[in-house]
Amino acid sequence: MNLADSVESLQGIGPKRAEILKKAGIRTVRDFFYNLPRDYENFQAAESIAEMRPGKVVIKGKIDSLSTRRAKRRRLSITEGVVRDSTGAVKVVWFNQGYRVKQFSPEKEYYFTGNFELKNGRYSLISPSAAEVADIDPKNGLSPVYVAHGALKSHDFKRLVANSRSKFSEIPDLLPTVKPGTRKNALFYAHFPNSLKSAQNARDYLAYEELFELILAAKLNRQENDKLKAEKIPFNAAKIKEFVAKLPFQLTGAQRLAAWEIFQNMEKDTPMNRLLQGDVGAGKTVVAALAAYAAALEGRQVALLAPTAILATQHCEGFSRLLGAFGVKVALLTGATKKKSELKKQIATGGIDVVIGTHALLTDDTEFHDLSLVVIDEQHRFGVEQRQKLLLKSPDGLAPHLLAMTATPIPRSLQLTVFGDLDVSILNELPKGRQPIATKILTEVETREILYPKIRETLSQKSQIYWICKAIDDDPRTETTSVKSRAAKLARDFPGVEVEFLHGRMKPAEKDAVMERFSRGEIQILVSTTVVEVGVDVPNATLMAIENAESYGLAQLHQLRGRVGRGSKASFCYLLTSGDARPSQRLRELEKSTDGFHLAEVDLKLRGPGEIYGALQHGALDLRIATLSDTRLIHRAQEDVAKFLKNPENMVKYKELMSGITKYQQITTLN
Ligand code: ADP
Ligand code: MG
Repeated sequence: MNLADSVESLQGIGPKRAEILKKAGIRTVRDFFYNLPRDYENFQAAESIAEMRPGKVVIKGKIDSLSTRRAKRRRLSITEGVVRDSTGAVKVVWFNQGYRVKQFSPEKEYYFTGNFELKNGRYSLISPSAAEVADIDPKNGLSPVYVAHGALKSHDFKRLVANSRSKFSEIPDLLPTVKPGTRKNALFYAHFPNSLKSAQNARDYLAYEELFELILAAKLNRQENDKLKAEKIPFNAAKIKEFVAKLPFQLTGAQRLAAWEIFQNMEKDTPMNRLLQGDVGAGKTVVAALAAYAAALEGRQVALLAPTAILATQHCEGFSRLLGAFGVKVALLTGATKKKSELKKQIATGGIDVVIGTHALLTDDTEFHDLSLVVIDEQHRFGVEQRQKLLLKSPDGLAPHLLAMTATPIPRSLQLTVFGDLDVSILNELPKGRQPIATKILTEVETREILYPKIRETLSQKSQIYWICKAIDDDPRTETTSVKSRAAKLARDFPGVEVEFLHGRMKPAEKDAVMERFSRGEIQILVSTTVVEVGVDVPNATLMAIENAESYGLAQLHQLRGRVGRGSKASFCYLLTSGDARPSQRLRELEKSTDGFHLAEVDLKLRGPGEIYGALQHGALDLRIATLSDTRLIHRAQEDVAKFLKNPENMVKYKELMSGITKYQQITTLN
């Protein structure tokens, strides 16, 4: 047996099942073994049917009279049967689980566990899980439960794993271990536990293994980065001081510290690899501008990559305002830029110091004279290949210093593992004078009663409003209101008020024109899709309404909300919900807190690391087993990785490990 072989090499898995497994991401024998149960059921405490009380029960018996019928509601099927033991009989019911009819044979004995409750005037056992008595170890009564994939249900996985039971002994260790065979035992006991404790220990080991891989990947990235050479950018204290003194505001302590950390990195001939994290509105731009100024002072070039034309334009205006007076030449390069080839010539000959742009920066014919610093705003919006394209535009043999910025706060536990080896600067202090954004969930009825008066008040104070909608066009199948109809409706409801809409399918020039007019205060209400999500800065906007708020993730809502509260005036955010379901915990958390770091922790708990990570990096961190909240395991893995790296022979010896971590290396890198 070879772990890299296709699952089809396992007994009981043919092309059809292999296809289903492939869709679930289970391609190899290794994937198959690592597809751990999601839970364990305990059938040990089976009671007799006569003694059952309402609530969760476990019984043991034979089943007959199985049949499936359609309910009056078209999409529901009901499968029923009768389970008997020596003391009595009970009706069992499953919904939309037609396969149950074929699962059981009338001669065999099964365990059933589920809720015994009153349904339609009669006590029945509702949607129980089941296991064949012969399959369950009588000593512990445990039965693993697998996630179903297509036609492969939990009991199918159980059977397939049982078929391969003898193969476990052939699994080699992945990592150096104190006791040889730790890995195969862990995998075995995860699938065939002796006790819940043994299953938990097994999972702990496998989680540790996974964290080890992740942390090793991050460390190797660091080593690779440290081998690269960059141009030193000396720190010119006098000039920087002068620049800071002329800013229209005082830098916060966090901004000063971040800038200082950046200057320190850029003075070295190893490329900087720094992530600048700061909640929305924390003031990342001026920190980036300071770094750019330091480079420009030395006659070096800087590129700033932004995910949208709107953002690039705003950055260009901001940078020009901050740096123009100091003789730094700033230019914008987006798809809509006119006289592109002329600008590109200037960039190639060093006539421009700071080039700010979108994907247009990445094209092959954009060449730099001496690119020494790359700033990537909202870095998770770009894939590894895109970031690489820009980084390779440095002079031959040199890598640019890299400053990646993100407004998505990274929970501490994630930072320890994935980002443990990155240099991170955190802006955890908002500029002075900011007021927390008052946030409130509104039902449909309340929308008119509360939001409309608030809109009138905001307009009378000459402040501006964002109204966020889900859809661009009306769709008769859903009830979501599009930006277009919402804008039309608001224009009718507020006569004389300038209402405009904005969405991602508009031409860049049209979008820029609308944003421009909104920035200048010529538009009072901007109805928009989430294109305004990142970075857009209009401090005079103080009210935001988010329609269909329940359809967005926590991080995204927090980002959206950050478009207001950017000036000194009090700001408000209303989360509009439809229907009468109780608001989700996400929305309630958002109502309670405006602290992005806190919300990131909450989000991590609610959604798990995969999702969060997806929002941070382009590409998903697919942890199968480990949870990033286990700091004890994380620390252990960190220590062991450090030991592992001390012996270079390990990299040759542990082949499976080294080849398996390339996927993690891709996602734990900034460059
Ligand atoms: P973000 O971190 O979301 O990118 P920005 O850099 O866009 O934040 O800054 C938000 C706003 O705060 C801008 O209008 C900026 O000029 C202003 N700002 C930045 N730093 C300070 C400061 N130290 N004091 C006051 N205002 C500041
Ligand atoms: Mg920004």
